Amino acid sequence: MLRCALCGHEVGGDALRCPKCGGPLQFDYFEGEIQQASRVWDKFADFFPFKLENKYSLGEGNTPLIYLRRLSHRLGVEIYAKYEAMNPTWSFKDRGTYLAIHYALLAGYRKVGTVSTGNMGASVAAYSSLAGTDAIILTSREVSQESLIGMEIHGANVIVVDGDYGMLYHRALEIGAEKGIYFINSDNPYRIEGYKSISFEIADERDADYIFVPTSSGGLYRGIFKGYVEMKRCGFVERVPQIVCVQASGCSPIYTAYISRAEHVEKYENPHTLAHAIENPYPPSGDAVLKILRENKFSCVAVDDQAILEAQRELASEGLFVQPASASAFAALKMKISRGKIERNSRVVLILTGAGFRNIGHLDMKRRICKLEELERCVK
Ligand SMILES: *Cc1c(COP(=O)(O)O)cnc(C)c1O
Repeated sequence: MLRCALCGHEVGGDALRCPKCGGPLQFDYFEGEIQQASRVWDKFADFFPFKLENKYSLGEGNTPLIYLRRLSHRLGVEIYAKYEAMNPTWSFKDRGTYLAIHYALLAGYRKVGTVSTGNMGASVAAYSSLAGTDAIILTSREVSQESLIGMEIHGANVIVVDGDYGMLYHRALEIGAEKGIYFINSDNPYRIEGYKSISFEIADERDADYIFVPTSSGGLYRGIFKGYVEMKRCGFVERVPQIVCVQASGCSPIYTAYISRAEHVEKYENPHTLAHAIENPYPPSGDAVLKILRENKFSCVAVDDQAILEAQRELASEGLFVQPASASAFAALKMKISRGKIERNSRVVLILTGAGFRNIGHLDMKRRICKLEELERCVK
């Protein structure tokens, strides 16, 4: 059963927002017996809203949980990286796109759409070409070349929209309803179901005390939370870890509402951060995240671009090249440790949401050129 994540109103059919309060929708929490298998989609099949077929899958999920030995020693906690860059189009979005396009086909749609600044568009474009659906991708003026090419190479219909990105989400849903396009935006209920798989995989390997989640629209955060709640209700885990909501301080609408104890998340004016994947100024699941934060006494932090860039380099020095949005998780962990908020030897999981190569414009590398005749001198 589909229900409003905010007011609890029951909703049928293909609704994408609550007709009563406008809140985001989600499926009821699953409680029941669990089957055994290896692929996360099969092993946890009971937790998903319909039977998942392999033919719409590009092999998403089952990403590694990597122990970061040196950073752990340095900081005195056990740090694990959930390395989502290993997904087919380099981000966790693939987990949600798989379910959402699969559902769109079951429901008889031939066209799917999304609103994206990068990873989402690439993901929807790739899965659409596998499934044979038409993909309409609405993107902002700020989108990078690397991102656009990742969408266009799959033949998606990419439209660069000049205007308020925060409003684009809602305009897209209206136009989709008019034109029979199923919009699988950032917090579409099937996406949330797909993102639960991250929690299943983590819990299957390790007991975690803290999970740091880079947050923009709030879809990922809601999915990770929902996955843990369901596992707890089924007795698969004993407790839900502390799930920390991480934002960039240059665009932190959820954080701002959280610290000012506001009732609602307001639109963030003049957003500016290098972490473009978490730069949604008006998160469609903002209020739903705020509700989870308050009801569970979870924390929310904002980290600035300088801390994000430093974190990106430090993760790279341990072998993981992730994009700034993803590095924010590590920057947030360091900030919380420096404030004495994380107990020594805690087990911490960083959700490293997407790959460094999606976003390279901000990186300035020093390199040397050596003449072949001088090579012996150059090699030290
Ligand atoms: C989409 C995205 C996020 C944020 O996810 P939301 O569901 O919008 O909160 C974080 N990091 C990366 C790399 C992303 O692509």
